[in-house]
Amino acid sequence: MIRECKLYKKEREKKVRCLACSHKCLIDNGKTGICGVRENSEGKLYLLVYGKIASMHVDPIEKKPLYRYLPGSYSFSIGTVGCNFSCEFCQNFEISQVSKKGILFGGEYAPEEIVDEAIKSKCKSISYTYNEPTIFIEFVKDCATIARKKGLKNILVTNGFMSKEGFDFINKDIDAANIDLKSFNPEYYKKYCNGRLKPVLDTIKRFSEKKIHIEITTLVVSGLNDSIKELEKIAKFIASIDKTIPWHITRFFPMYKMIDAPVTSIKTLENAYKIGKKYLDYVYMGNV
Ligand code: SF4
Ligand code: SF4
Repeated sequence: MIRECKLYKKEREKKVRCLACSHKCLIDNGKTGICGVRENSEGKLYLLVYGKIASMHVDPIEKKPLYRYLPGSYSFSIGTVGCNFSCEFCQNFEISQVSKKGILFGGEYAPEEIVDEAIKSKCKSISYTYNEPTIFIEFVKDCATIARKKGLKNILVTNGFMSKEGFDFINKDIDAANIDLKSFNPEYYKKYCNGRLKPVLDTIKRFSEKKIHIEITTLVVSGLNDSIKELEKIAKFIASIDKTIPWHITRFFPMYKMIDAPVTSIKTLENAYKIGKKYLDYVYMGNV
């Protein structure tokens, strides 16, 4: 199931520019962008993982995590392979990073089938999650359109690196989102994620301006993003948008390229919690 992407523009000499996320990859004929799932073939951009579902579960919505949206409900959760980031601490690296080596896998589903499965499973929503949904945004849109008509809500669990074009393309179909704010340090995004901070802040503001329910997640990694100064900056930023936005501070466990890093201590998380509560109404500790 390969589909032509909608979010791209043609450039000279059969090159294309993908517009889905803030990398805005300029892709040569025969190549893919950074995420490894959007390929230029003869001057047209194709989504190689349209409906190719690598991970599918029925999850409590609190696992997304969303604590203040449809509490106690289940969310039909799907993801493909691939990601536009390369976080060294990725908990889902087996699916998020394989496409960069040209490996694509997953069962094939039409959008109607995803929606039917969600209804059969008695879910109230569909979550586009596990990897970064922006990279398969055209499939998200097709599922979300049908899901809406059938009374289901649509949830994005995202790193927030989508472009303005990506946001304009999808926001009307989305009811809620959990957006990662991994750090408030541009260097951290560059060094550990292959991303940038500014587009993530812009995405958070855009979702809030459209009155879409959002919750923010920060994975707290000891020694990397757990200083009082940095946590305070994050909490203040969220409060500057809306102090009722829930903030999830989650505990890091060694993973992927950070297998030798220490587990975040409960004390560190408690400090982050205290800082958050100075500015925000709702702060939650996760992975404890
Ligand atoms: S989604 Fe992002 S990383 Fe993937 S091709 Fe498009 S601009 Fe590049
Ligand atoms: S954004 Fe999420 S899925 Fe992608 S590499 Fe980072 S942690 Fe993994």
